[in-house]
Amino acid sequence: MKPEWVFDFIAVFPELIQPVLQFGPLKRVIEAGTLKVRLFDLKKFADSPKEIDDYPFGGGPGMVIKPEPIKRALEKTAWGYVIYLSPQGEKFNQELAHRLLEKRHLVFICGRYKGIDERIVGRYVDMELSIGDYILSGGEIAAVVVLDVLGRLLPDAMGNVDSAKSDSFENRLLDTPYYTRPREFEGMKVPEILLSGNHQEIEKWRRKEALRRTLLKRPDLLENIELSPDDRRLLEEIIKEVLAHERPHNKGN
Ligand code: SAM
Repeated sequence: MKPEWVFDFIAVFPELIQPVLQFGPLKRVIEAGTLKVRLFDLKKFADSPKEIDDYPFGGGPGMVIKPEPIKRALEKTAWGYVIYLSPQGEKFNQELAHRLLEKRHLVFICGRYKGIDERIVGRYVDMELSIGDYILSGGEIAAVVVLDVLGRLLPDAMGNVDSAKSDSFENRLLDTPYYTRPREFEGMKVPEILLSGNHQEIEKWRRKEALRRTLLKRPDLLENIELSPDDRRLLEEIIKEVLAHERPHNKGN
């Protein structure tokens, strides 16, 4: 059976990526044949393992990964949508993850040292992708993050499909709070509504709490979504509750 998605990773240390393939949703989609992951060890594409990097022209500290081994590895992947994992790239998020999955064959280049020769970026890279505004030692760790995010969105990755759909950012809101047994922990009780068995009311409570968290923790997310009249009503309730809660503290200030 032909896999529906192929993710290739070109890296100096593919061993860093290998272990994550053996657990959870990723293991499930690979075993189901939905996803094929191939790891390409850059050292094997150099004239000798010591020749994957060289000094930067113009001088300065650090080494640069040479273009030829990357080109040879790219040829071996048979070319897909080529992504260079780079702190200078487009910032990764849940929405972008869904868009990337529209391409069935993704090829990730993981840099190391000062990075890769710019001519590879200019000629062969379709997109640069960053996992955040900080510098990792190598693209392998970024690859693991992206791989995990993409893998769990594939069909059959999750035991329960609806679980991923309610996660933070999927509805452009943060996820609702969760509780499990025991019903009481250190004097703190589980919200009564969750024990009521009234699923309609539980759903309404969850939506309201998701809106509350988003408003309090990530109000920027609310700027980009169209709220239904019900959501607007819930938000008004939340704002009143928050203001009422704040008032006693302000007394006497
Ligand atoms: N000199 C590069 C710069 O400042 O843009 C950073 C090089 S970094 C030490 C080595 C490699 O780690 C990069 O080539 C890239 O593949 C990867 N990397 C580091 N930070 C990353 C990030 N935030 N997102 C994605 N990849 C990253």
